[in-house]
Amino acid sequence: MSNQDWLQRSRQHVWHPCTQMKRHETLPIVPIARAEGVWLEDFEGRRYLDAVSSWWVNLFGHGNPRIKQAIKDQLDQVEHVILAGFTHRPVIELSERLCALSGLDHAFYASDGASATEIALKMSFHYWKNVGRPEKCRFISLDNSYHGETAGALAVTDVPLFSATYAPLLKPGVRVPSPDVRQARPGQSAADVARQALRSLENVLAKKAGEMAAIIVEPLVQGAAGMAMYDPVYLTELRRLCDQYQIHLIADEIAVGFGRTGTLFACEQAGITPDFLCLSKGITGGFLPLSCVLTSAAIYQAFYHDEVTRGFLHSHSYTGNALACSAALAVLDIFADEDIIARNRELAATFSAILAPLAERADVRHFRHTGMIWAFDVDSPRADFAQAFFSAMLKHGCLVRPIGKTVYFMPPYILQPEEMTQLFQATTQVLDELSQQNDVLTGPVTALP
Ligand SMILES: *Cc1c(COP(=O)(O)O)cnc(C)c1O
Repeated sequence: MSNQDWLQRSRQHVWHPCTQMKRHETLPIVPIARAEGVWLEDFEGRRYLDAVSSWWVNLFGHGNPRIKQAIKDQLDQVEHVILAGFTHRPVIELSERLCALSGLDHAFYASDGASATEIALKMSFHYWKNVGRPEKCRFISLDNSYHGETAGALAVTDVPLFSATYAPLLKPGVRVPSPDVRQARPGQSAADVARQALRSLENVLAKKAGEMAAIIVEPLVQGAAGMAMYDPVYLTELRRLCDQYQIHLIADEIAVGFGRTGTLFACEQAGITPDFLCLSKGITGGFLPLSCVLTSAAIYQAFYHDEVTRGFLHSHSYTGNALACSAALAVLDIFADEDIIARNRELAATFSAILAPLAERADVRHFRHTGMIWAFDVDSPRADFAQAFFSAMLKHGCLVRPIGKTVYFMPPYILQPEEMTQLFQATTQVLDELSQQNDVLTGPVTALP
């Protein structure tokens, strides 16, 4: 069957995510037949460099042999078993290792990132209720935050394109300024911007901490907002404020965990431990859906009681799925055995050098980089920039999905320098092509990550 047949059938019965389906009357869906390493291949043999790690999940390439083998081995033992009242080797070992790596003590599982956010929010509220402070039931989040799209998570998400429609369903929280370094005025450092944002937060806490359960943040990089990056001092001081004003700190490392920012967890760069750490995306190397919320012994103890309803009665059918946990264990093995964090540091320096000329372009603003993420904003008059750039890059054999006018690269850690050069050259050509086209399309600016 050809690409055309598959995309027709997909259009008939698959409702694709984050998509106005009518757009696919003209914009082709790309059917993928196979994938290996950083490359996706369609049914006609065309190849695409996966520069977004398939929505930020794929760490070590498609079909990574070690992760594949771990899942195969587990498949011969036990594929899945109810986790209420039962347990198994992969979930025990994974919990031990994640706790040791994060400095936290207990691991609660779900299958996707949004569920991890829901769990952290519910646990935080329930903790305060269990310790006799039920009035602490609201949440603080940052401007331009993204924490997932189920109702609880969407309430702490500030991407109007995703949340505005559902506003009547969402319990409003309190929003505080983001420490996004792009706001720096001349002479201001990243740390200055962070301290300014902290002052606004402290004003809110001074008045309202008594009714607040927690603040939720994406440590170091706000991904879906368009890779907004900020100084670690924000997190260091945030930890101090949370302790001072007695609210929980929820670190949503769903996108930035597992080496994305240059350390295994982004919080390490600020020297802090959150009260709740949400993990997903890279946790299985992009093979199987799994998410996890790690928390402290102190919080766990507030639920540990003779009374059933003081326990955390939340559940998902696939909680702690054995195949997914075995994939996650293989991911941790790869980090340890191949010294990925140190290797990535060298790789990132090479990639930054390859991409450096982009920063010099007249149409590029705020070229920025943290760990294994590179991003820049394009000064383009086109309302359809994201769509046009995506489509043109696809013709050059690259999968890149701009968010509004922000172009970012978030490649698997196995990308080779030659492949980054290919991506750089395609990007340069496409930016040139788009700036030369006069048929500027107008219409609403869409910012789909
Ligand atoms: C992707 C993401 C989520 C949601 O994860 P899903 O698996 O898509 O539900 C939550 N928070 C952050 C920071 C994310 O990037």
